[in-house]
Amino acid sequence: MVIEREVLVVGGGPTGSVVATLLAQWGRDVLLIGDGGREGGLPIETVVPSAADTLERLGLQDALGSCASPGPLRHGRCWSNPTLELQDVHQDERGWRFRRPDLDLWLRDRARHTGVEVIEGARARGTLCPSGGGEVLFEQNGESLVVDARLIIAATGRSSGPPLLPVATRHRLPEMIALSAIVDCGDTDEDASVIEAVAEGWIWWLPFGDGRASVALFCDPSEVRARGREEVWKSALNQSQGAARGIDATPTRGTLATARIHQSDGGLLIAGDAISAIDPLSSQGLEKALVSAEETALAAQTTLLEDADLETMVDQRQRWEMRLFRLHRHQAVALYHAETRFGEHPFWAARHQLDADSIQVATRPTGRLTPAAELTEEPRWIRTGNRLAPRPGIRLSHSDEESIDQVGQVPTGVLLDLIGDELPMRELQQRAAGIPALIDQSPASLAQILGEMCRLELLIEN
Ligand SMILES: Cc1cc2nc3c(=O)[nH]c(=O)nc-3n(C[C@H](O)[C@H](O)[C@H](O)COP(=O)(O)OP(=O)(O)OC[C@H]3O[C@@H](n4cnc5c(N)ncnc54)[C@H](O)[C@@H]3O)c2cc1C
Repeated sequence: MVIEREVLVVGGGPTGSVVATLLAQWGRDVLLIGDGGREGGLPIETVVPSAADTLERLGLQDALGSCASPGPLRHGRCWSNPTLELQDVHQDERGWRFRRPDLDLWLRDRARHTGVEVIEGARARGTLCPSGGGEVLFEQNGESLVVDARLIIAATGRSSGPPLLPVATRHRLPEMIALSAIVDCGDTDEDASVIEAVAEGWIWWLPFGDGRASVALFCDPSEVRARGREEVWKSALNQSQGAARGIDATPTRGTLATARIHQSDGGLLIAGDAISAIDPLSSQGLEKALVSAEETALAAQTTLLEDADLETMVDQRQRWEMRLFRLHRHQAVALYHAETRFGEHPFWAARHQLDADSIQVATRPTGRLTPAAELTEEPRWIRTGNRLAPRPGIRLSHSDEESIDQVGQVPTGVLLDLIGDELPMRELQQRAAGIPALIDQSPASLAQILGEMCRLELLIEN
């Protein structure tokens, strides 16, 4: 039997459910199929306070009441010095602790209520069509199921890759595995989450607020293979200065936690952790996955409305993910560099080898400015209602970043008109005074904008 649908979403985690829900809300005929597995990371995952805006924009604010409780009352850190520092958390800065299984169920339920047909317990086989549409084979209870969809969206999580996805790994941080267990912490629970660096990696202690806590060790899988899971776990926990020290539990779960970004080889839309997974140190994976779901739904809707071809939208998605991945990579690498006590241990040695690629600070240019030779005009796709619309933008032809449609408040088109060949700053400022869109810019703010363009290498200062 072949089921025909307009949109097929593969993977029933948060990303898949949110993409499917949005597209159904926008009038699409959507089928969501998941294998019933729960990849995710840990049974409880935290999100930062600013995620509330994202949840509200996506209409998911009720999930906070149904599947989350406020974050811990205190945060502890034992990083780059051997003393555990505990700090009270202000009410507004507590964020939330999501019960992941509840959240996943809630999101799938919401998808159903929006009109998405949901099939659970079916696993996609083979390779998802690189053209972005066509037939997909699923296996469910030993039976085969074939879906023929106009558009396919893959949301199959962190460990998915070839052969299921037609992708190659673009960037990867060193391999990481999370060993974890749920433990009783009883009356000693102080409702303090603690992050501690140890020789084998780092420990994350997260009380649930109900007498139980999750303890996770993020470590190097090659060290686990060489020394054995038990030994690595015990040795790490014995170094803990916090509640994790000496707990009597063995890890019940080993989850792949490597940060990496894929490069899509064809016209398949890929969303959430399936396209790019960030280092769990940031505690922002879930929010990033939800925003990636939203961006993917917009890209899908734009294609289905025939405002853009699929290849353009896949390229746009790839660039969007690349920008966020770089930002998170930079933050994670800076944090790993800040811990210098265990440099000779494999986990830390691998991370210290990474280039901290410090983000340059823009300075105000004073010399002559020339547009970069590789500057190309390419639209930037901006949300307009429930679709993406092109705006004039520029980027470097060799860059894998998104194009830029404005710098500060000034459209790039206006800036391109302003910048001639090798003009000194003073002359640029005189010209700017005659351009309507720049009349409000003081010489200082214009210099700041041009400095930012130099930092982005769109302009060269001689
Ligand atoms: C150890 C660890 C801790 C983390 N802690 C946090 C945290 O505290 N806060 C935070 O914000 N983020 C955290 N994250 C990140 C967070 O878990 C992910 O960002 C989030 O789960 C991504 O959602 P997703 O839907 O893209 O993928 P997933 O949640 O992995 O969902 C993918 C779904 O697709 C299904 N699937 C896979 N292959 C197939 C197939 N062939 N056919 C059908 N279905 C398939 C899977 O079974 C799964 O249900 C953590 C991650 C890790 C690894």
